[in-house]
Amino acid sequence: MTKEEVLKKYFGYDSFRAGQEILVNGILSGRDTLGIMPTGAGKSLCYQIPALLMPGITLVISPLISLMKDQVTALNQAGIHAAYLNSSLTQGQYQTALRNLIQGRYKIVYVAPERLLTESFLWAASQIEISMVSVDEAHCISQWGQDFRPSYLKIPDFVEQLQVRPVVSAFTATATAEVREDIAAILGLQDPVTLVTGFDRKNLRFSVKQPADKMAATLAYIMEHPDECGIIYCLTRKTVEEVHNALVGRGFSATRYHAGLSDEERRENQEDFIFDRKEIMVATNAFGMGIDKSNVRYVIHYNMPKNMESYYQEAGRAGRDGLPSECVLFYSGQDVVTNQFFIDRMEAAEGMDEETAALVQERERERLKKMTFYCFTNECLRAYILRYFGEYGDNYCGNCSNCLTQFEEKDVSETAKNLIGCVKTARRSYGMTLIVDTVHGSKNSRLIQVGMDQNPYYGTCEEEPIYRLRQILNHLLVEGYLFLTDDKYPVLELTEKSEEILNGGTLLMKTAKEQPKKIKEKKPKK
Ligand code: ADP
Ligand code: ZN
Repeated sequence: MTKEEVLKKYFGYDSFRAGQEILVNGILSGRDTLGIMPTGAGKSLCYQIPALLMPGITLVISPLISLMKDQVTALNQAGIHAAYLNSSLTQGQYQTALRNLIQGRYKIVYVAPERLLTESFLWAASQIEISMVSVDEAHCISQWGQDFRPSYLKIPDFVEQLQVRPVVSAFTATATAEVREDIAAILGLQDPVTLVTGFDRKNLRFSVKQPADKMAATLAYIMEHPDECGIIYCLTRKTVEEVHNALVGRGFSATRYHAGLSDEERRENQEDFIFDRKEIMVATNAFGMGIDKSNVRYVIHYNMPKNMESYYQEAGRAGRDGLPSECVLFYSGQDVVTNQFFIDRMEAAEGMDEETAALVQERERERLKKMTFYCFTNECLRAYILRYFGEYGDNYCGNCSNCLTQFEEKDVSETAKNLIGCVKTARRSYGMTLIVDTVHGSKNSRLIQVGMDQNPYYGTCEEEPIYRLRQILNHLLVEGYLFLTDDKYPVLELTEKSEEILNGGTLLMKTAKEQPKKIKEKKPKK
C-alpha cells in the first residue's frame, strides 16, 4: 500500500495536510524526524501512517494516560492493532499485553515513559523488531518547556539499549528555540528532518481587555454572541463554579469541567459540550486535552493563564473549522498574583532534584512575565504570539485588538521619572504594588511601616489613578527601563536604561483613544 492508500483506508482522508507529507516521507526514508506543529495540525497521523507501512512495531511514548487511551481506541476502531502499556493496567492485563506484543499482535504500542527501563519491558523490547520510537509531546523532555517530565529522560537511555537503533521521531506543539534544541540534543536525533508548520491561525481574532467587572464583561460578550459555542477558561475551580452559576442562573446553556468533579460528571459535561447539547463550557485548564470540536466560536480567558504556551493552546481551540472566531483575554492584576501563588506552591516532579526544581520554578516565573507582557503590549498581538513561538512576520495583522484600536501617543516621561526615581531612592527593593502606592501617595499601613511615606517621590503622582500607574510601570518593564526579578516575591530593579529617563529623556506610550460609543445596529431578522 502507498501512504495515500493508508491515509484513505484507515483514516478516511483524501490528502495529506501541508507538512504531514514531508514528515511521513522523512520517516519512511529512514530519517529521524522532528515535527513542530500547533495543536490540531494533525501530528498523530505523521507517525501512525509510517508505523503501518514499516515492517516492525512502532512504540509511541506519550505522557498522559487519557491521551493514550483515546488514541488507541481511535486506532482500534479504524481496524488497526494497537495497545497501550501504562499504570492504568492491572498486573495481569499488563502481562497479557506484553505477551501480545512479543507475539507481534500489535503494530502500534503506546508506552508510558516510566515503563521503558523496567526489566520486563526491556526484555520484551529485545524480543521484537522495533522500527520506530515516536515521542509525542516531546517538549516534556526539556526543562525549558512547560510540563517537564524527568521520566522522558529515560527515552534516550532506552533507545541506546536496543540492539538495532530504530527511527526516532518527535512531535510537539512547543516551538521555542530552547525547547527545539533540547529535544534534538537530548533525544540524540541524527540529522533529523525538521518541520515547523505555521503557528498563525488567521481566522482567530485576538484581544486583551481589562474590564473592571469581568463577570459583567463575560455576560455582555455571551449575549452579543447568541447560539454560538464557546469555552470560558478560569484559573481556579472556585471561579469556574462562580461563572458557571452566574451563567446557568441567567438561563444560558452552560456546563462546567474541573478536576474537582467526579470522572462521571466530567465525562458527561464534556460530552454535553462536544455534542452541542450545551453551548458554553466553563472550565479550568484541565479541559481540552485531546478534544476536537470544530465549531467553537470563541474562547474567553476569564483569567490570564500562566504562560503563552497554555494561552495559545487553549485559545487555539477556537475556530478549528477555519471560520472566523475570537479569543478574548480578560486581564487583571490579581491573575498575576494567583499564578505566582501556583508557581510558589509547585512541587518538584517525581525524580527531580531540588536544584532542577528551583530552575523549573524560575523559568515558570519568566514565562509568567512574558504572558503578562502580552496583556500590556501595544503592538500586534498576533506578532507577539508568533515571535514568542519563534516565527517572524508582519507587525500588523489587522485582526487583533491592538491592530484594530486607534492609539494616541502620550508623553509619560514625568510619571516614568517618578516611578524610576522611587525605585532608585528606596532603601531596598520593593515589588510593583508598593512602588505604585508610594508615588500615588497611598496611606496603607505596610507602606508607612517600611517608611516609604518618607520617600522623596511619595505622592508625586497623586493625580494618576492606580491602574494608570500600573500601566505605565508595565510599559517601563516591557521597554526595559526597569526590571522585575524572577524571585518568589518579584522586586523592581534599575536597568542600564533607567538613567535615560531620570536624566530627562522622553518616554512616549501608546494609549487607546477613547472611542465614542457606537450604538450597535440591530441585525435585521431573516
Ligand atoms: P494534533 O496531535 O496535532 O493536535 P491530531 O493528530 O489530533 O492533531 O489531529 C487533529 C485533527 O485533524 C484530527 O481530527 C485528525 O483526524 C484531523 N486530520 C489530521 N490529518 C488530516 C488530514 N490529512 N485530512 C483531514 N483531517 C486530518
Ligand atoms: Zn494584530
